[in-house]
Amino acid sequence: MRVLFATDLHGLPRHLQELADWAGVYRPNLLLVGGDALPDGDVADPVGTQVRFLLTEMRRHFEVIKDRSPDSNIATIVGNHDWLCTYDAMIDLERDGLLQILPSDNAPLFGEYSFVGYSYTPPCPYAVKDFERLDFPGQPYLFDGGVIWDRQRGRPVPVNAAVYLGAAPSLQEDLARVPVAASLDWILVSHAPPFETDLDILPEIGHVGSRSIKDFILQRQPLLSLHGHIHESPGLSGRFWQRLGRTIAVNPGQRDDGLAAVLIDLAEESITLTPLGIAGASGGSPVTLARPAAWGPA
Ligand SMILES: [Zn+2]
Repeated sequence: MRVLFATDLHGLPRHLQELADWAGVYRPNLLLVGGDALPDGDVADPVGTQVRFLLTEMRRHFEVIKDRSPDSNIATIVGNHDWLCTYDAMIDLERDGLLQILPSDNAPLFGEYSFVGYSYTPPCPYAVKDFERLDFPGQPYLFDGGVIWDRQRGRPVPVNAAVYLGAAPSLQEDLARVPVAASLDWILVSHAPPFETDLDILPEIGHVGSRSIKDFILQRQPLLSLHGHIHESPGLSGRFWQRLGRTIAVNPGQRDDGLAAVLIDLAEESITLTPLGIAGASGGSPVTLARPAAWGPA
């Protein structure tokens, strides 16, 4: 099985074009988009900007991908830059058979692998809070301002983010409810990367990933965990993957000047990661990793 994984496209036209081109060249069984695919647009009008972009530009590019690579499935999660109204609009694309949103509670199968999606991130300075949660109960909240999409009123509303997030389940509590995968060959797609790894480094700040995601990976040991959110990390650490117990965790990051992605070949005996345009991935050479005989808790 061949998976093409790209994340954090942020609505950049060249990135969308390259994604469609690469899907045509590599013809993956599954194209995975790991959240934050849309431009930020106007915080006062997410429907007129972000939702419109999803239903026009993104739809058009996904249709091109389906046209060039008819056997490719497309699956996605959302990220912290995405609004709840965008998620609702994505359900329309799902109904049209264009993509599948990966849920956390009912992992769909692609080939012999089941995929669990997880969109929430720990708190960030970005204003939109729809897909943010405290990492763990009682985590101190350090940022000002906040806005969420009010489904009933159909418009954005400002919130006191410390109060709002304090009342919601934390990532730790939320992840504890994710059903244990039926198959050992399951794959986690989580927008936030695990804390204190080569995959979660910001310039001048350091490690900003999620402690709860890391604990979840170490406890549940998916075959692969695929991340984004911290675009700069591979360029800073020089690595786009690392092992966490038996799990191979990957963050291809993203660049401003062209698409970064990873092509993942899942074979019976091995897993090959081919970096495509990833900053810090020396020479872009493929990495082939042996698969342990049995996957399970380390
Ligand atoms: Zn992003």
